Amino acid sequence: MEQQDLGREMVVATIRASCPTCGDIELTSGDVTVLVCATNNQGSYAFQCPTCRLAVSKPAESRVVDLLVSTGVKLSVWQFPAELDEVHEGPALTTDDLIEFHFQLERGNWEEHIRGSTEMA
Ligand SMILES: [Zn+2]
Repeated sequence: MEQQDLGREMVVATIRASCPTCGDIELTSGDVTVLVCATNNQGSYAFQCPTCRLAVSKPAESRVVDLLVSTGVKLSVWQFPAELDEVHEGPALTTDDLIEFHFQLERGNWEEHIRGSTEMA
């Protein structure tokens, strides 16, 4: 990684990365996004190859995350969706349920119908 000082405070970093198709490529900090998962603390970085436009995502150790962020790469923190912690009770949705739901949606009063069937369940 090289850094060029372009003025008093503006630092543009050249980030060397590799594309699975093109091999070694050069990016600037604006081309890369660092992603950190708040749930398991796993880091990764993502970019679009400037040559072939392929979207590339690679895992990154925390020191690489810190290094990229220190050169001005945008950090995006995400977490697993809360739905993963939901308790799912009752039978799984079947194809028949889906077809029935489709017919219910075609009826005018589908909201009342669905609310009514939920309360009865
Ligand atoms: Zn490429």
